[in-house]
Amino acid sequence: MNVILLGPPGAGKGTQAHLLMEHHGMRQLSTGDMLRKAVKNRTEVGLQAKAIMDRGDLVSDEIVSALIDNELAEMPADMGAIFDGYPRTEAQARDLDEILSRHDRKLDHVIELEVDEDALVDRITGRFTCAECGEGYHDRHKQPEREGVCDKCGSTEFKRRPDDTEETVRKRMAVYRAETAPILPHYERKGIVTRIDGMGTMDGVSRAIEGVIAS
Ligand code: AMP
Repeated sequence: MNVILLGPPGAGKGTQAHLLMEHHGMRQLSTGDMLRKAVKNRTEVGLQAKAIMDRGDLVSDEIVSALIDNELAEMPADMGAIFDGYPRTEAQARDLDEILSRHDRKLDHVIELEVDEDALVDRITGRFTCAECGEGYHDRHKQPEREGVCDKCGSTEFKRRPDDTEETVRKRMAVYRAETAPILPHYERKGIVTRIDGMGTMDGVSRAIEGVIAS
């Protein structure tokens, strides 16, 4: 099973990808996570990508397609892939077709999470995670039960993404509308696109995704 999760930043793609990993033993392939790791490790890719990411612009198609190609090459052939934040441009969608066929994989579903942009700005600008275990929290909607202590692992270190400011979020949404939404017709022609209301509860969205995958 190979699935693309599409949707603007903050639509819940990462959260839903984690649930799919837990329920189905699939692997999340998040180009955003791969790039953040490269930035942290100060690799050549990371050094090139940092300023672009901080502005909310897109890193080059060649870089992200190579990251995906390398990850797929490392994965067992029978392990499903969840593409999260990739492809984001028409060129990447074409790259992915070619990469998948080279790895003897086929795309089963493209699931678009539809969301309200103003609500997303609220969602993204308040989010933070435990630096230790990655558990997600929110300033207004989900504070840890004991202030400053992670519910899950007890760590007292938390982190925020540097690109989660209102200005950058609005920029990333504009980029989504201009560059990423236009790739949907590419997949609509293949008859594999499903749109889901991404503003529901985490469980509700997860159930809707499970329904698509079981179909
Ligand atoms: P994300 O975590 O998916 O929101 O990605 C964070 C940032 O990484 C984006 O704003 C881009 O700068 C960069 N990025 C992630 N995935 C891609 C991609 N597929 N193509 C180009 N840039 C990307």
